Amino acid sequence: MPKENESNGRGKEPVIKLEDVWKIYTMGEVEVPALQGLNLDIYPSEFVAIMGPSGSGKSTAMNMVGCLDVPTRGRIMLAGQDISKLSESDLAQIRGKKIGFIFQTFNLMPGLSALENVMLPMTFQGVPKDRREKRAKELLESVNLGDRLNHRPTELSGGQQQRVAIARSLSNDPEVILADEPTGNLDQKTGREVMLMLSDFHCRAGKTIIMVTHDANVARFAERIVNIKDGKITSIDDNPEHEVCETEMQKERDNPDNNKKIKKEKGKEK
Ligand code: ADP
Ligand code: MG
Repeated sequence: MPKENESNGRGKEPVIKLEDVWKIYTMGEVEVPALQGLNLDIYPSEFVAIMGPSGSGKSTAMNMVGCLDVPTRGRIMLAGQDISKLSESDLAQIRGKKIGFIFQTFNLMPGLSALENVMLPMTFQGVPKDRREKRAKELLESVNLGDRLNHRPTELSGGQQQRVAIARSLSNDPEVILADEPTGNLDQKTGREVMLMLSDFHCRAGKTIIMVTHDANVARFAERIVNIKDGKITSIDDNPEHEVCETEMQKERDNPDNNKKIKKEKGKEK
């Protein structure tokens, strides 16, 4: 038996557990089986990518893990709590506290500044204004947007908007970050910058990340890759060669005895 991988939390209780999860949409007379019996465990601090063709059920699965919808059948556990049969208001509560979302289209509030966008989820959790402002500022600084606090989304590039969205997703210090095609609207270079940032948050803050992507260059940041087709998982692959974030590489440089498997890849890039 290989030693449990400490960095990805396997060996602990899963933070997310899908047990025979089905979602069947009814469109008039027609039933669309979007998910057909998903079983999946995701462990604390894991970075998992979900890949599959368009229409395979990736977003449907994400929406249910993210408490935006409930399954037709089956069970979803989030941090030890069964979320598969909760009411809309209970789902909203959990969603606000435990989940951070990053969307393909950024989904920032157009009328609000970058700072106000990052403060907003904390407002819903009743965080006092001075603490909201302080934390939002720190988060925006950590995504290198300290000089864009008062810009509106239309005054920011796509990459900058997605960095605001990353900061926003972290504002309530969620258990899990869900990113649905986070680089889908970005060019390759900007997408890579955004991924480096997300990956760095993953290893610095130890956040569990589930990310949907079409792009193999984006999926390579993940530690495991779940392939979905026609609402079914076709394979779950470990990705031991996953790209390692800057923070982890620094740790490795500081500690040559470190026996963690780290791919010293920086030079090979591009
Ligand atoms: P993906 O994100 O992998 O592209 P989705 O999860 O969005 O796929 O969709 C899976 C299937 O469910 C598709 O056939 C889609 O048309 C269908 N579907 C998704 N959302 C709805 C909905 N709200 N009502 C009816 N059918 C839906
Ligand atoms: Mg989708």
